[in-house]
Amino acid sequence: MNEHDSERIAGLLEADGLVLADSDENADVVVFNTCCIRENADNKFYGHLGRFKNIKEERPDMEIIVSGCLAQKDREQIAQRAGHVDVVVGTHNVHRAVELLHESRRNGPITEIWDEALDDADTFPSALAVRREVDWSAWVTIQVGCDNTCAYCIVPAVRGREISRPFGELVSEVERLAADGVREITLLGQNVNSYGRDLTSARRALNPAHDDFEIAGEQWLADRRARPLFADLLIAVSKVDGIDRVRFTSPHPKDLREDTITAMGTNAAVCSHLHFPLQSGSDRVLALMHRGYTAQRYLEKVVAARAGIEDLAITTDIIVGYPGETEEDFVRTLEVAAEAEYDSAYTFIFSPREGTEAALMVDQFCDPAEVGDRFERLRVVVERSALAKHMARIGRTEQMIVEGPSKRDPEVFTGRTAQNKLVHFTSDRPLRSGTLATALITEASTHFLRGELVEVLSVSQHRTRFAVTAG
Ligand code: SAH
Ligand code: SF4
Repeated sequence: MNEHDSERIAGLLEADGLVLADSDENADVVVFNTCCIRENADNKFYGHLGRFKNIKEERPDMEIIVSGCLAQKDREQIAQRAGHVDVVVGTHNVHRAVELLHESRRNGPITEIWDEALDDADTFPSALAVRREVDWSAWVTIQVGCDNTCAYCIVPAVRGREISRPFGELVSEVERLAADGVREITLLGQNVNSYGRDLTSARRALNPAHDDFEIAGEQWLADRRARPLFADLLIAVSKVDGIDRVRFTSPHPKDLREDTITAMGTNAAVCSHLHFPLQSGSDRVLALMHRGYTAQRYLEKVVAARAGIEDLAITTDIIVGYPGETEEDFVRTLEVAAEAEYDSAYTFIFSPREGTEAALMVDQFCDPAEVGDRFERLRVVVERSALAKHMARIGRTEQMIVEGPSKRDPEVFTGRTAQNKLVHFTSDRPLRSGTLATALITEASTHFLRGELVEVLSVSQHRTRFAVTAG
């Protein structure tokens, strides 16, 4: 979500006539788009900002914008701590970043933070006005904010209440992206499965351009118009002509419903990958976290998802060292992780975030050495299943979208499968990124697969770059 906000700000700057600098130190305008989900992201930012103080002393005309979650959280503190910042802009008014920059040129440094997101199309993070890193893939924010109350999490405080974007607006956006050459979209939300629940009848209404809503020749949603939910959205966007792949992140385990599993299992464009954040395997800790499910319920949903979606990859997020986590609690996490047989996992050490319930449980904070040890033990369990899953793919021919030449070896290309697996493969011909191709998998490791090109299925037709040379 943060990266998507960066694309939006880059889009605004580009529309203002600026071009991307070759390095941040050479830029006239530098944007720090911050994250505050864990403490180290927070500390890193103040370190970077300090470095730019020196650069700005040498180049006083350099302008600095600070945006994102940390700006929302720290507000005036940023300007107080760092007088060299020109603009501080929060999460709800990202679209104002460049206007504020102009204002600061007239009136001096400015901090503008809104307490709430406005429920209106101008403030929603549209995927159309962004500067995308790649032309064939795009993020589409379907909902902003979060209405959950996970005891460790700062997101609701910095991203505000949950607001779903209107269904028709989203489908139109995806159609426009597809017309623009995008073949893969990733739907973004903190709790995508609750998409649509907040839509009132006025906002639920389909986009006027889609009053007679038709996708791929089907009269769509005739009976669902009253209340489009996440599964409806998944189906609708996966039917948009030109969209070959639909991904989404993240579904909350308490809200994953059968209709989403069915939509994933029956629509070829929806990728066979479920990012399914567990957080802890202990029911006691899950209750302390207010996650709203038990380990048993979570595992039942894993089984249902695997039964309903062919060749499904499941990944997760796990927090180690939640306040009060005992050895017994942690062993449950190891057991559930082993049973879930994850394809990969993001594992985090609990980080107290001021203002959250868990940050107040100081007397129950775990011993850091013990947490480090648990973190390592969890890594071993996750990597065991990841490697086993990858080894099972050797000898198979996998479909992938080519992402480009590999960073380490220009003779090798990198592709990504529907299961979100990275494949490093050899090819006897150059391949444009965005091309759909197949590779025979020959080797596997914990974090990626290796293979060789078998067939190019469809070349990316998109043309974006040109050169005019004299001669
Ligand atoms: N909305 C998503 C999570 C977004 S935050 C969901 O509920 O699944 C991404 C991940 O960061 C979380 O899943 C959690 O594992 C981790 N995280 C959030 N707050 C944290 C904290 N205070 N300490 C450590 N990890 C945290
Ligand atoms: Fe944070 Fe929980 Fe909301 Fe995810 S669902 S963003 S973890 S409060």
